[in-house]
Amino acid sequence: MAGEAKKISTKVGVLGAGQLGRMLAISGAPLGKEFGFYGQSNQEPAAQLGHRFFSSKESNGLADLIEFSDVITYESENTDVALVREIAKTTPVYPAEKSLFISQHRGREKSLFDQLNIPCAPYQIVDSLESLKVAVEEVGLPAVLKTTTEGYDGKGQFVLKEATQVEQAWSEIGGRELVLEGFINFQRELSMIAVRNADNEHVYYPLVQNVHHDGILRYTIAPARDISDELQKEAEAYMQRLLDELDHVGVLTLELFDTLDGLVANEMAPRVHNSGHWTQDGAVTDQFENHVRAITGMPLGDTSVCQPIAAMINIIGVIGPTKKVLEMPNTFLHLYDKEERPNRKLGHINIVADSEEVLYESFKTLAEFLPKS
Ligand code: AMP
Repeated sequence: MAGEAKKISTKVGVLGAGQLGRMLAISGAPLGKEFGFYGQSNQEPAAQLGHRFFSSKESNGLADLIEFSDVITYESENTDVALVREIAKTTPVYPAEKSLFISQHRGREKSLFDQLNIPCAPYQIVDSLESLKVAVEEVGLPAVLKTTTEGYDGKGQFVLKEATQVEQAWSEIGGRELVLEGFINFQRELSMIAVRNADNEHVYYPLVQNVHHDGILRYTIAPARDISDELQKEAEAYMQRLLDELDHVGVLTLELFDTLDGLVANEMAPRVHNSGHWTQDGAVTDQFENHVRAITGMPLGDTSVCQPIAAMINIIGVIGPTKKVLEMPNTFLHLYDKEERPNRKLGHINIVADSEEVLYESFKTLAEFLPKS
């Protein structure tokens, strides 16, 4: 109705209760938002914050979450699409079903990249040893074979260098639908976080560089060094096409390879992302606050960086010497209240600095938190 005040949602339901939900609540609380988490245990990172918790083990847990929430979001691209569709009949879910449906399948993602003229690796979907052999002919070698769904942190992948490895690759990760991708010779891995709200406002964070070790993100440099205005604008144009095509509301993350021939899209995630954690201390508005703003009908916040350079280092497996972190200037500790376990993301350290030199001095001091090789 003309002149009617727009509704701003206050109660945010989150499917999941991990660290991403926890950080959504930490950044959303000052905006007056209340959070309810739907998870398996009240020992999960978000459940321990003292907001509402609804157990997925109880028969009325989901109904209670829906009853509590003005709007619902999720932490994982592996969230059940049918569940989101069902909830959306009564309560808005952002990002909506389409973003989720496409992001949980590498083939659908690549087909959307193609449709929107966003460069990505050549690829073929395969579902048998025979079709894999044909795909190897078409895509060429080297190539990367990946599961179409549920792959994360490099799991469910096989790098094919020689045609003689085809049987081995199929027996290791086959027996299900896979995608064979041409191997991209990249200089470095980048990502961009963008946000859109239902009023069609778009904001973009700067391209950042991500460094992985054993398939897990270890640190992010933000902004990535030596990014021309043209490259930043090119990535923003890709994101804008994706956001608009998906009618996306919330944060969208795009992972990219930086190659000598330009940017090549790898995959996207319809959620706040580990490569955006630096924004908590390095940007005017962090990714979590901007996601909450977007999904609750608020104007989006400024994505400018606060310092010339920032970094995020993941704390993996063991907590490590955090006292040292607390004693360092311009360095911020974020722990998730999780128990130590190999390869588990337990927290992260954000650093802001005036120069690359100062940043890399901090990296030397924090060597125990970085991969050894
Ligand atoms: P993903 O699960 O798709 O993010 O892949 C995990 C990692 O494998 C990426 O971060 C890259 O380092 C590497 N990778 C994935 N796809 C390719 C590709 N097509 N060419 C070269 N390296 C790749």
